[in-house]
Amino acid sequence: MSELSNLTIQKARTLLDSKELGAVELAKFYLENINDKNKELNVFLEVYDDVLKNAEEAQKVIDAGGAGELTGIPLAIKDNILIRGKKASSASKILENYRAIYTATAAQKLLDQNAIFLGRTNMDEFAMGGSTENSAFGVTKNPLDPTRVSGGSSGGSAASVAGNMALGALGSDTGGSVREPASFCGMVGLKPTYGSVSRYGLMAMGSSLDVIGPITKTVSDAEIIFNTIKGKDKMDSTSIDIENSKLKIENFKIGVPYHILDGDGIDADTKKNIEESVKKLKNLGYEIQDISLPNIDKALAVYYIVMPAEVSSNLARFDGIKYGLSVEGENLLEVYKKSRGEGFGSEARRRIILGTYILSAGYYDSYYGKAMQARKKISEEFKDAFGKVDAILTPTTPFPAWKIGEKKTPLENYLADVFTVAANIVGCPAISLPFGLSRTNNMPLGVQLMSSHSNENILFEIGKKFLNEN
Ligand code: GLN
Repeated sequence: MSELSNLTIQKARTLLDSKELGAVELAKFYLENINDKNKELNVFLEVYDDVLKNAEEAQKVIDAGGAGELTGIPLAIKDNILIRGKKASSASKILENYRAIYTATAAQKLLDQNAIFLGRTNMDEFAMGGSTENSAFGVTKNPLDPTRVSGGSSGGSAASVAGNMALGALGSDTGGSVREPASFCGMVGLKPTYGSVSRYGLMAMGSSLDVIGPITKTVSDAEIIFNTIKGKDKMDSTSIDIENSKLKIENFKIGVPYHILDGDGIDADTKKNIEESVKKLKNLGYEIQDISLPNIDKALAVYYIVMPAEVSSNLARFDGIKYGLSVEGENLLEVYKKSRGEGFGSEARRRIILGTYILSAGYYDSYYGKAMQARKKISEEFKDAFGKVDAILTPTTPFPAWKIGEKKTPLENYLADVFTVAANIVGCPAISLPFGLSRTNNMPLGVQLMSSHSNENILFEIGKKFLNEN
């Protein structure tokens, strides 16, 4: 059934509810696609063995008239989000055979509706990276051009949707890991407001930055998943309820910090694409305003101090005793050293060392303390900006998906995050919308819209119009 390739979650819902399509038939379509493509693209680390059984269950719910919006919808899940009894490795050797003993709240909310998890997707180890090249289990290739990366760290999740191997996917975003791969694969990626989706059952990277978010083909589909997974959770004290009231304003003002496009290292196509998107937004009736975010150029530096500091303490739990890989040694210290030395890949080790250094006595104030001051300043500047405009437009990334192996140094990789990290530092929601193609290599480009805390609705409203969804 080739028309299934054009399905969205919304369309699938209609077909499932009208009984034109069965949940088992739908699940089989995705399992077959995975079977055809996964060897080449390395999108799924594991395809679950209970997919068809769960699809039969979902069909019963549909037949009984009890279907929710995601009942019977085949989804993919990033390998750092737990489902009880299933493996979750964060694409790391240190957790290669780890099985979750509880289910993440976001995943549970989807399971409560009888959504179908097809399998767990590849990622940069412990979500550290922007290309999935840091996975311990090989790179995920971009379904649109297998010589290129799919982005990261939720590269497998983005590629699963782009390659018709799932209708939607969960990713996690600490500094861009939902938005960047979504953009590289021509998909929609939502990083929700910090705390709006429970982090319970998400393996921690940077706890003050991490959030789970959906990757989908359309804004409407992202909205459906977000509305299902959001909400305060007693298992995560930082979680919040967000108002989902109907929007009162229609004519949003959109701010463009044009000054961020002046820097080197931003593709000419990417700059041009912002002009094109501004044109489109104006045609849709939105007022565009040139805004200034004076310290946004410090966001990347702040992120690469705060994040490794949090990484170094979060990853201290992987000691060769409590979880996963344990390498024998003469004494306890040697077990720690050997297990961590063999279990973690080079990027994880780099960030743990960097973070430990940043937090060490004598350096804490000059690095972490300064970064926290700058974080506060940037947050204030965003608050000011959101007093004047309803949303802020930037590119999602400074360039499209690169060739596998092309970026040689860590710094080259980190520069890909220059536009995405600010939303994590500030905690505000941000969405990446597929818009335009690079003229040099035909790869998709993405634009990012950010709004103030708990105002995902603004992003959905503008995003749907922008992508001609209604
Ligand atoms: N690419 C960024 C990094 O390498 C973001 C990662 C993420 O959001 N998990 O840290």
